[in-house]
Amino acid sequence: MLTKTQFLYYLQCPKYLWLYKNRKDLLEAEEDIGYKQAQGENVEYWAYQDYPDAIDCKTEGDIFTDINNTKNIISSSPQAVIQSSFFDGELFCRNDLLVRISEDEWNLIEVKATTKVEDIHIIDLAFQKQCLSSCGININKIYVYHVNNKYVRKGEINPEELISKEDVTDRVNFIEMSTRQKIKDALEFMKAYNDEPAVDIVKQCFNPYDCGFINYCWKNVPEHSVYDLSLKESDLRNLVKQGNLGIEDIPFNIITRENKKAYYQAYKIGKPIIDTYGIEEELSNISYPAYFLDYESYSPAVPLFDKFHPYQQMVFQYSLHRKESPDAPLEHFEFLSDNWINPLPSLLERLISDLRENGTIIVWNESFEKSRNKEMGEMYPKQREALKLINGRIYDLGTAFKKNYYVHKDFKGSWSIKAVLPVLIPELSYKELNIQGGSQASESYRELIDPSISPEKKESLKCDMLKYCELDTLAMVRILEAMEEIIRKRP
Ligand code: SF4
Repeated sequence: MLTKTQFLYYLQCPKYLWLYKNRKDLLEAEEDIGYKQAQGENVEYWAYQDYPDAIDCKTEGDIFTDINNTKNIISSSPQAVIQSSFFDGELFCRNDLLVRISEDEWNLIEVKATTKVEDIHIIDLAFQKQCLSSCGININKIYVYHVNNKYVRKGEINPEELISKEDVTDRVNFIEMSTRQKIKDALEFMKAYNDEPAVDIVKQCFNPYDCGFINYCWKNVPEHSVYDLSLKESDLRNLVKQGNLGIEDIPFNIITRENKKAYYQAYKIGKPIIDTYGIEEELSNISYPAYFLDYESYSPAVPLFDKFHPYQQMVFQYSLHRKESPDAPLEHFEFLSDNWINPLPSLLERLISDLRENGTIIVWNESFEKSRNKEMGEMYPKQREALKLINGRIYDLGTAFKKNYYVHKDFKGSWSIKAVLPVLIPELSYKELNIQGGSQASESYRELIDPSISPEKKESLKCDMLKYCELDTLAMVRILEAMEEIIRKRP
């Protein structure tokens, strides 16, 4: 049996399909799966609103129960069915929505939580069409229902405005023949390979999706490898063919990006490359009192509150450290919205008051905080001026690393705080925390504001979320101190 998901694995990398079929025990849990599923289900709920009488073919049983149930439902001439399952003896597909348009013709609708139709959706639909047609289901039109990112919530959700309906019939028909051939190839591949196929790792592991077998396939890739250098695909392919995976002996001239060149040089000389004058120049942008600010945000496909559009980053939490002078004690302020209400009115009031009127506001990757401030100012005109002034005070502490004034081989050419922190301040770690990343914090918010959460769970979640966000700003405090120390110790 070849499912449409497995077919997509095959197209990404034949070994992905092989491992999925034969070594599922090695499959890693997908990150953010809870978030993605929740977004998908939400969008499906609104996309199905046009067809309130559609019959759900999904059962509590296995896929064969679903297939039989679908057969029974289809034979009762329904107007529309959701989650129908078909198996033609080789191919299995599950369809989001089938809408009957005549005695023997249907429209096929795929619901996606994305904001546009992607090429992979067309391939997915071409697979479904082939499976359906060999099961005797004739398809007339094919649509992708996806999220309209121009929609702005005002009161109850308006599904007509939230969901964009794109006719992709021609696009699917255009690749029908080539998809048929690829399906044939995938089926032959499945029959031909009893043993694990040898596949060179080039750029397929993260495109179009993160593969679920990366830990397994990458286990022999050296700590510092050719994959860390953002090489051109042809150069990478050549090196991999030669079995040259370490960065030791690769020719310098094939590295094109400046940050990767610097990384390579730091690796080669075996110590960090530090431009203390560059760091000093950067730090001269900071005037005390210094504030260290970090936002946490949630970006649901279906906006939770008025004024928001799909996938808008809604800030629900911040952590703020403040230092009056370089040697002054550290103060901490924080905000976390923990109820099912739009967090922005109270968050903005507190934020503007906590940030007072002068002093540099230090963030990491300023485009995120600045964009949120700009959006919030557009949504709340009374606060616009204050947010504009805040943006004028923002300084990005990552700049010195972005400009390669401090290059360490373990940054691997990245200037993200998650790369810099463990090198500069190894004792400050997220490992002990229950929340270890922004996406986990974001998922926790959705759980936190759920009215059905127990008071105990709410308290412990709140505590975890506050600790996580506080560490984000404390990390910046410590990194700045480390940078100041470097300058102080300069001979
Ligand atoms: S990790 Fe990469 S090489 Fe391994 S199966 Fe996945 S895509 Fe293929």
